[in-house]
Amino acid sequence: MSLLTSAATKAIVAFGSNLGESERIIHAAMAGMQIFSDEPLLKSSLWQTTPVDCPPGSPLFLNAVIGFFPRPGETPETLLGKMQELERVFGRTPKKLHNEPRPLDLDLILFGKEVRSTVRLILPHPRAHERRFVLEPLNEIAPDLVLPGQSRSVAELLARLPAGESCRKI
Ligand code: AMP
Repeated sequence: MSLLTSAATKAIVAFGSNLGESERIIHAAMAGMQIFSDEPLLKSSLWQTTPVDCPPGSPLFLNAVIGFFPRPGETPETLLGKMQELERVFGRTPKKLHNEPRPLDLDLILFGKEVRSTVRLILPHPRAHERRFVLEPLNEIAPDLVLPGQSRSVAELLARLPAGESCRKI
């Protein structure tokens, strides 16, 4: 059983970048998120993936995920606010096009058993369980994790995904 299947509240954050020096940006953003946790972050590898639901001609993405136990007092909303600030630090500007290329995209995949359905925050992330670019890296750090609302573990969800989305560990 992996660390992240224990009963303590855990957070999973997904990283994506397809603009600029993506590898450097993701490593630096991961380092930036260390301040949200007393323990070392659990980090996946970086994966090169084909854009999904993006404008034609969009560059390939690098994707990764991290897991950690948030500090006491942290809520999904406070964490999302800090993640959005980090996106801005790495050059994210208000979007003009749906899913246009961006230096850093941070998605809150999970925050313990918390569930949200607001304009600002949907938890767990509504598409995480069907996206190879989330499940491949998540399978490295939490294969036994069952996302709220799902009956299958991350490893099982991944095994059942249809082929199509390309995802290569770098
Ligand atoms: P995106 O363009 O994919 O970065 O979407 C950003 C928007 O999605 C922001 O307005 C967020 O408030 C909203 N959002 C809703 N749920 C989530 C989530 N679980 N993680 C990150 N952003 C979210």
